[in-house]
Amino acid sequence: MLVVGSVAYDTVDTPSGKNDHQLGGSATYFSMASSYLTDVAVVAVVGQDFDLADRAMLSDRGIDTSGLEQVAGKTFRWSGSYREDLNSAVTLETQLNVFADFAPELSEVHRESPFLFLANIDPNLQASVLAQMTRRPKLVACDTMNLWIDISRPALVSLIERVDVLLINEAEALQLTGRDGVASAAQSVLEGGLRAVVIKRGEYGAVVFHRDFTFAVPAYPLTTVVDPTGAGDSFAGGFLGYLASVDDTGADAIRRAAVVGSVMASFTVESYGLDRLRSLSASDIDARFDAFVELTRFHPLGGGQGLPVRPQFNN
Ligand code: AMP
Repeated sequence: MLVVGSVAYDTVDTPSGKNDHQLGGSATYFSMASSYLTDVAVVAVVGQDFDLADRAMLSDRGIDTSGLEQVAGKTFRWSGSYREDLNSAVTLETQLNVFADFAPELSEVHRESPFLFLANIDPNLQASVLAQMTRRPKLVACDTMNLWIDISRPALVSLIERVDVLLINEAEALQLTGRDGVASAAQSVLEGGLRAVVIKRGEYGAVVFHRDFTFAVPAYPLTTVVDPTGAGDSFAGGFLGYLASVDDTGADAIRRAAVVGSVMASFTVESYGLDRLRSLSASDIDARFDAFVELTRFHPLGGGQGLPVRPQFNN
């Protein structure tokens, strides 16, 4: 699988406290989460200040960093606060730095990737990566955020017309479509011809609005959320990582993928930055997946029965 997106140094302010200069970025969280399930290659750019240990941390776990260019200048920086609302970040500062002039040239191998994730970054950059694919991947998904809806709407709208799945958080879905609820926003996006829209709702989970069905998954009910940064990208990494690993984009796979997305996001928010997400074992992931099965398990009524609604309402 191939991902293009940001690799960043973040400063976050959460109710648990402030953390400066933590490795982040949409492509970083995505690749970290998906690396548990499939081979993933990153296309991004960093500056001269990028720590060799951070590159090693990604490549040591099998993430292909051959498309992670290092150029003169400073690495992308983002600073955000969750003091007001743990479910949505307030951006305090965005410094594109080396991303301002980034024009990636994909390798022959990367152009053939069967799954492509256009993680949150300038939609023109997302479009340039999509245009370089030799064959149409089996699945192309993208994410975005309020900044790009504000400053790059035409490019973003034209990109969304060319992808299969849009993953987007609730506030941004409403901003993009001008609708006032998630179902209505999803309907508006699906009218553009996509296969599915996944609306991420922070602690309220996520809803997959697919052309053929709707599926909702909760967020794991954690008692403490330390840092929500990267939850959306980790969700996407679990979601697409699962689909790529089973090489299936059918309805059952998409439902399960949404649960795997929620599993990965739940680990990310337990600590600052990548601390928890990067240190999982297969049994951690399986146990959390099983907890989701339990969380959402209920028996349908057997034997063609309906609910015990009182007889006067039969008609
Ligand atoms: P999320 O999964 O939505 O919490 O994404 C968090 C990550 O998005 C952070 O690590 C930031 O570095 C990154 N980010 C914030 N703003 C932007 C932007 N305008 N373009 C690309 N990445 C961004």
